[in-house]
Amino acid sequence: MCILSAVLFKNKVNNPLPLLNHSGIIFSWRTGTHTRGLSECVLVEQLLKTTVGTVWTMLKSKTFVKKTRSGGVLKIVREHYLRDDIWCGSEVCKECKDEAPVLQEDACIESNLCSYPHYLIPDTNVVLHQLDILVDPLIRNVIILQTVLQEVRHRSATVYKRIKDAIHEKDKHFYTFTNEHHRETFVEREQGESANDRNDRAIRVAAKWYTDHLTKVTDGGPLKVVLLTNDRANKEKAEQCGLIVYKCEEYIKSLIGNPELVDRLAMTADDQNENTGSKLLFPEHLPLSRIQTGIKNGTFLQGTFHANRDNYLEGTVFIHREGADINEVLLRGFQNLNRAVHQDVVAVELLPKEHWVAPSSVVLLDDSPNDEDAEEDETENKLKSEASESSALKPTGRVVGIIKRNWRPFCGMLSQSQIKEATRHLFTPADRRIPRIRIETRQAATLVGQRIMVAIDGWPKNSRYPNGHFVKNLGTAGDKETETEVLLLEHDVPHQPFSQAVLSFLPKMPWSITEEELKVRADLRHLSVCSVDPPGCTDIDDALHCRELENGNLEVGVHIADVSHFIRPGNALDQEAASRGTTVYLCGKRIDMVPELLSSNLCSLRSNVERLAFSCIWEMNHKADIIKTHFTKSIINSKASLTYAEAQMRIDDTTMNDDITKSLRGLNKLAKILKGQRIDKGALTLSSPEVRFHIDSETHDPIDLQTKELMETNSMVEEFMLLANISVAQKIYDEFSECALLRKHPAPPPSNYDILIKAAKSRDLDIHTDSAKALADSLNNATTESFPYFNTLLRILATRCMMQAVYFCSGMDNDFHHYGLASPIYTHFTSPIRRYSDIIVHRLLAVAINADNTYPDLMDKHKQSALCTNLNYRHKMAQYAQRASVAFHTQLFFKNKGIINEEGFILFVRKNAIIILIPKFGLEGTVFFENKDKPSPHLNFDSEGPTLKVEEHTFHIFDKVKVTISLDASNLQHQRIRMALIEPVIPGVSVPVPESEPVAKKPRLDR
Ligand SMILES: [Zn+2]
Repeated sequence: MCILSAVLFKNKVNNPLPLLNHSGIIFSWRTGTHTRGLSECVLVEQLLKTTVGTVWTMLKSKTFVKKTRSGGVLKIVREHYLRDDIWCGSEVCKECKDEAPVLQEDACIESNLCSYPHYLIPDTNVVLHQLDILVDPLIRNVIILQTVLQEVRHRSATVYKRIKDAIHEKDKHFYTFTNEHHRETFVEREQGESANDRNDRAIRVAAKWYTDHLTKVTDGGPLKVVLLTNDRANKEKAEQCGLIVYKCEEYIKSLIGNPELVDRLAMTADDQNENTGSKLLFPEHLPLSRIQTGIKNGTFLQGTFHANRDNYLEGTVFIHREGADINEVLLRGFQNLNRAVHQDVVAVELLPKEHWVAPSSVVLLDDSPNDEDAEEDETENKLKSEASESSALKPTGRVVGIIKRNWRPFCGMLSQSQIKEATRHLFTPADRRIPRIRIETRQAATLVGQRIMVAIDGWPKNSRYPNGHFVKNLGTAGDKETETEVLLLEHDVPHQPFSQAVLSFLPKMPWSITEEELKVRADLRHLSVCSVDPPGCTDIDDALHCRELENGNLEVGVHIADVSHFIRPGNALDQEAASRGTTVYLCGKRIDMVPELLSSNLCSLRSNVERLAFSCIWEMNHKADIIKTHFTKSIINSKASLTYAEAQMRIDDTTMNDDITKSLRGLNKLAKILKGQRIDKGALTLSSPEVRFHIDSETHDPIDLQTKELMETNSMVEEFMLLANISVAQKIYDEFSECALLRKHPAPPPSNYDILIKAAKSRDLDIHTDSAKALADSLNNATTESFPYFNTLLRILATRCMMQAVYFCSGMDNDFHHYGLASPIYTHFTSPIRRYSDIIVHRLLAVAINADNTYPDLMDKHKQSALCTNLNYRHKMAQYAQRASVAFHTQLFFKNKGIINEEGFILFVRKNAIIILIPKFGLEGTVFFENKDKPSPHLNFDSEGPTLKVEEHTFHIFDKVKVTISLDASNLQHQRIRMALIEPVIPGVSVPVPESEPVAKKPRLDR
């Protein structure tokens, strides 16, 4: 098409400007000043014929008159071109000269309604609402009309993407018919006809054309087309034209191959009203127009609804308007929540002040039986009876309308109805902030105990629960694969295999470094570069070297995989990496940000292969002062891929004196000095118990868990990565002050430290928090001889006081400080294989040193800021997913261990519980003192301490305790580690030591 448009531009007859649609078909163009004469039209037709060999016919021209800026009058002609060469796409057809037909001759699907092979034509609403049906492998040979596709595109980006994916999938045999450009199926909107009605008619005309065309080309063979529509009027009209037409539900119910498919039918508004009681449970939602007026004149506030995880009758709306005097509105009670679902954008109205309430601390889970008429009033009264001081009252409101639903398919489990042979059941989502959902299914018996996915279809005002439909079965709850899938889905981690489009941008194998690359890069292949990583690392981002220069100074190089050489801006591979944002590491599983060919091969700086790198090279004196910094694209040949332990061994082994070992010793010496300097400046060294699992290579079961051990070499590598990141941050900011991608770590608000200060006070120690330096110093001094683990506990606590570090664009912010590292500027440069931020930073640095070209988005601070928002979101979700994965593997580990007892320390004291850290496992758990089945002991919480008095014993932060650890599997969906107190012994509260300690299995460590 490029050639074609170029030709048209060259032959500028009255400046014709071709307008191309997305599939590259010319559908119209404009001419300036005056309309084209006939001869010019012929010229254009010939032109098209010679270029693409196609006969085009102009249907008609519409003339518009437009005033130009200079005051002249411009005539614009718009023409719609129709073609004769749009094929039906069917294998049976010999008439259409289609080279690659999509629709199968043998389009057989067993159905009680249609006993003949047939193609399906769904209308727009069927595609929009019943996509979960259409994407089922059973449904094949479907004709997607252009009219339908265009409407879907306007109405839902998600559905559009999913239907496009289905069309691309070869096995689905979905064919796009461009009926709007077919001479025989194009229809013009008639006078008085709505756009909607015209489209319905276009769909019927196309279905009719197919019916006639197939009859003709098969000589009246059995092959037919079936139109699917849920619109009554459309269905009647279609029947009048002699079409075969069914309601989607009717057709799906007739299928014999997969009776379960019925479960995936979305409920239409009609069904929902039939299915639910007549009693009005909720106030009506206001129409959008009234909501908008209300927001404009200040009667309503717009915000995002967050459901309360522990209390299903409460939630908060975070108000969007900046600088508003009210930022949060509390919602309490069924009526006021008015069918808002977590993350929906809603409009709220404030209640009069006398109705304002304080957030309740009651835990309320919606676990009533599957009962439509369950009385909510009684439960709500429980909330009301809680007396509260007026100071605690929060602005309280009610939802008057929904501005945007944010429904996604939810993972969870089926709660089977008590009624025998019932088809309506409740679904309980894994995320407690999502309400239970009513679904219809005939396979309840098989779905019990399975993790399933369900989508919400709607929430009528007379229904206690939203209505939804079954989407898919993820597998048995508790299975490793199933649970991993669930936690990836629930944390929105993109984990589908890379698409063909993405893979098409990978370099062709065998790959080698070209002569051109050699010419423009620094050749560092002779240097004793090596990498140091955890055992089993296959995505090696970084390698280092250190050597003495002739002038006595040291040269230190950090060499980072040159990923941006392989991932070019804007292509499908780049877009996918940008969307994923980060590689996600779970226990025993890695979800790559970039395809494996790059992550584990071409970009991975493995030993004894030539690799492209981006190098940061310093000249330093022996005091680690930087004399010079130099950045260059390079070629390296790493001499060794070492583990931390191997590198440590070489440094310590005095008999070894090869270049690599000498290089490591030089690096280690400088790193110690650098670390000292950094800590002097106030960088924090905080610890958090990181647990690592030893996974059995065959069964993939966790064998043992162990807190990660840190060696000198860990911090050696870390020190140089920090230095490289800081050097690069400074460079890209100097070059591009408006669009440098940086990373900052805000200082926490002082009140965050309260708990840390109190904890230290309990041991008569002072923690100063007025600066990072003061905090670091006082943490260093906070030791007690009698309690060596005390300092580690303090640092763990200090970690919890910190804020999240975030990416940002330098032109959109003015606070760059990285609090934890005590650095005025920072970025991420050293891990481009697993972080997209680093790819952008590489591109910026490459432009800064004239090693690569720039592109518009790179210099657009708004685009970059939007990218940062996604990266921050993905990183947060990756972290949560990782924690969930550790939690799940911890459960697996304790599952077969029975009840064991361990020593631990109290990390936090709560109103009715203490939170315990078990150093041996890096495991945190809660000992509750209130139990449903037992009378509660006498509890007295003092928030000043904080202390909790249980009967006669008082618990303080950091007290040593002994607890039992076991897996509580009573709730299949939410299994958890239970801890119970053994020591101190509190009569009626603590439990006895488990009778026989299980024989400790000799741990098989992979050392
Ligand atoms: Zn045909």
